[in-house]
Amino acid sequence: MATLTVKPEDEKRVKALGFLSNKGTDNFSARIITVNGVLTADQIKCIADAAERFGSGRLCLTTRLTLEVQGIPYDKIDEFIAVLAKEGLVTGGTGPKVRPVVSCKGTTCQYGLIDTYALSQKIHDRFYNGYHQVKLPHKFKIAVGGCPNNCVKPDLNDLGIIGQKIPNFDQDSCNGCRKCTVEAACPMGAAKVEDGVLNIDPKLCNNCGRCIGKCNFDAINGGTQGYKIYIGGRWGKKVARGKALSKVISSQEEALDVIEKAILLYHEKGNSGERFAQMVERCGLDEIEKELFSDDIMNRKQEILDESLHGTGGATC
Ligand code: SF4
Ligand code: SF4
Ligand code: SF4
Repeated sequence: MATLTVKPEDEKRVKALGFLSNKGTDNFSARIITVNGVLTADQIKCIADAAERFGSGRLCLTTRLTLEVQGIPYDKIDEFIAVLAKEGLVTGGTGPKVRPVVSCKGTTCQYGLIDTYALSQKIHDRFYNGYHQVKLPHKFKIAVGGCPNNCVKPDLNDLGIIGQKIPNFDQDSCNGCRKCTVEAACPMGAAKVEDGVLNIDPKLCNNCGRCIGKCNFDAINGGTQGYKIYIGGRWGKKVARGKALSKVISSQEEALDVIEKAILLYHEKGNSGERFAQMVERCGLDEIEKELFSDDIMNRKQEILDESLHGTGGATC
């Protein structure tokens, strides 16, 4: 077996830059951030060239939409970073921080209800970049899904957003047809004609918007765009399914603010080493939700960021 020459402190330093040790060697894998999973042809060419020049010549996809170039010698890392920077690419995505966002292709998907790429880019800029220096109790993963089909599994992330289209149903326009086209279009069995009129069961309806425009009598002509937020999910050694906040948020700005409040709250109330899911469990969903829908935490943003509250031990709620 080859003698390893990279010192543990150097290994730690480059890990923080997104370079992970290839076991048993002095080589590293570069984790390249794709922002929202979309790369230009020039960026891919740049990564491919860099992989041939500095690494094993292979590009490996990770489960969370980053790209890895493996086999980069330790002393080539700085050069590798500089080459990628020419195409605006960066490495990273490690440590107890906001991690790279994972987005589904809702922007182009036939079921997509929101522009997931654009929203993920905003989340990346505001929270991955904006909170890069903020050390959290543990990693914080965000996923953006375009519709309730949940391809990107938003509820298995610390925080997940799902695009919504709430049907605007005008019951007065409903004739209670024997064969209801809305009922036939609903994949959830939420829309049913009962007692001569269509009813939508809010417990079953997932706001997929598939019924919109399906009624020939214009009973459902439009819908309201929204964002459903799940908090406290995780996947890994321990699994927790995220819980949905009780209201669907109608403005993107408010949804982004809720993400920021969740990160601040985690920074403030999370115990070192504690995942957000555990914190939600410990503090209670109702308590967390109250904070996420109030202005208090944003008003204290600077105070929370200035004081190194995280890691001082003990629960504060
Ligand atoms: S979650 Fe919905 S919008 Fe996103 S890829 Fe799946 S079906 Fe398409
Ligand atoms: S929603 Fe439209 S199609 Fe369905 S019963 Fe009412 S009028 Fe008929
Ligand atoms: S929004 Fe989707 S789940 Fe809700 S009633 Fe319409 S089709 Fe059914």
